[in-house]
Amino acid sequence: MTLSPTSSVSSRALPTLESRLPQRRELLTAIPGPASQELAARRAKAVPASAVSTMPVYAADADGGIIRDVDGNSFIDLGSGIAVTSVGASAPAVAQAVTEQVGHFTHSCFMVTPYEGYIAVAEELARLTPGDHEKRTVLFNSGAEAVENAVKVARLATSRQAVVAFDHAYHGRTNLTMGLTAKTMPYKTNFGPFAPEIYRMPMSYPYREANPEITGEEAARRAIEQMEKQIGAGSIAAILIEPIQGEGGFIVPAEGFLPTLADWARENGVVFIADEVQSGFCRTGAWFASEHEGVVPDLITMAKGIAGGMPLSAVTGRAELLDAVHAGGLGGTYGGNPVACAAALATLHTMEEQDLAGRARGIEELVTPRLRALAEELGGDQGPIGEVRGRGAMLAVELVKPGTTEPDPETTRAVAAACLSQGVLILTCGTYGNVVRLLPPLVIDEQLLSDGLEVLESVLRSHSSTASDLTAPSHVTAPSHVTAAKG
Ligand SMILES: *Cc1c(COP(=O)(O)O)cnc(C)c1O
Repeated sequence: MTLSPTSSVSSRALPTLESRLPQRRELLTAIPGPASQELAARRAKAVPASAVSTMPVYAADADGGIIRDVDGNSFIDLGSGIAVTSVGASAPAVAQAVTEQVGHFTHSCFMVTPYEGYIAVAEELARLTPGDHEKRTVLFNSGAEAVENAVKVARLATSRQAVVAFDHAYHGRTNLTMGLTAKTMPYKTNFGPFAPEIYRMPMSYPYREANPEITGEEAARRAIEQMEKQIGAGSIAAILIEPIQGEGGFIVPAEGFLPTLADWARENGVVFIADEVQSGFCRTGAWFASEHEGVVPDLITMAKGIAGGMPLSAVTGRAELLDAVHAGGLGGTYGGNPVACAAALATLHTMEEQDLAGRARGIEELVTPRLRALAEELGGDQGPIGEVRGRGAMLAVELVKPGTTEPDPETTRAVAAACLSQGVLILTCGTYGNVVRLLPPLVIDEQLLSDGLEVLESVLRSHSSTASDLTAPSHVTAPSHVTAAKG
């Protein structure tokens, strides 16, 4: 995709990018269509039910903001495969870099025969991550693996063991990262025992604070006091935190929370690890979400958006921390695979060339006012939208039972399903399962985004009237199957 030289609609906030597939929602069959149903039947006999999918349709092609299924239906992608395909799922520069690399070598193992791509990615990450200190980078395959290795580095470098994680945190599904993740179902239940020396501290979650007046700094002091009382600063190897929490509900901590924690960590010899696996790579309107408050992490974990969909993850951080590890202490067969590195270099180049951080800010400017207006229209404090929040193209709507702050996961599920049936892929998240999250590819066409948003708005309107119909005594005559059919 390149910038179109003649952008005909001057009022557009997002410059038009070229694409291969038409950027248009189009449903040709019932959802799921016959070809998807056939695959579902094969899947049921070959894949365990535990490996679930959001969508009942099977992908055949994807480009820009469109996912086309095996029946030819075109869905608007507001999920990016969970914040991965920020440059699109078939960005030409990425496809070309991958093709070129596989024609030479697909693997040599960086631990056996090293290659330039790995070094070039490390150089780029040193340049792009916050802080101008001396940095080193190690590459892995998944976000969880990056988090595991950041913890290994912090423990070794400090000769301490305790690791602090927060309420609502999500850090992965391996044994150590399950332990670091907050939510038990579906991530942890019956998968224990978990690794020791993990301590959980209260997060800053402005919408759900018992004292709504609490500042970010006060919320950080609350956690710091618990750390000092329960663990002791001298025993803590690392504080691990997502600058904006992902899976836990797109929770943006109150201003001052992150810098206060980072300052305390520095004063106490604690390694501050920012888990930017979801929030990194232009997603929040900056290269990394830590930048919004000028936080410079000691270590930063990255994955998802890094390589245009190819599996790659990284730990970048202070040279003295990473250089402390003994020879051979960090590695892995596939870590920093050459094809994934080629994809990452093309992805980072595309992000700079197309100013995708600026585009993420443009997406926020388009989406947030519309969702806030809808929240007002549906009753403000008394309505079903508890909060609209997020930064850049990492935006969320928290749904509650009208007139309360009680989470409404049922409506959230129904809203996502209704959007899907109208050709819009949206994801949900949250400790309470009541958050609709929007993670469009950063290259999404403005018209397409607007169409997707219209579907979400109309679905939220109809589900909101369903809710008030059910609670208002004057409407109790409506038979339940009628309201159910509205979904
Ligand atoms: C997705 C995610 C992970 C885990 O990444 P995987 O690649 O699925 O292992 C870790 N941390 C955060 C913040 C994430 O969003």
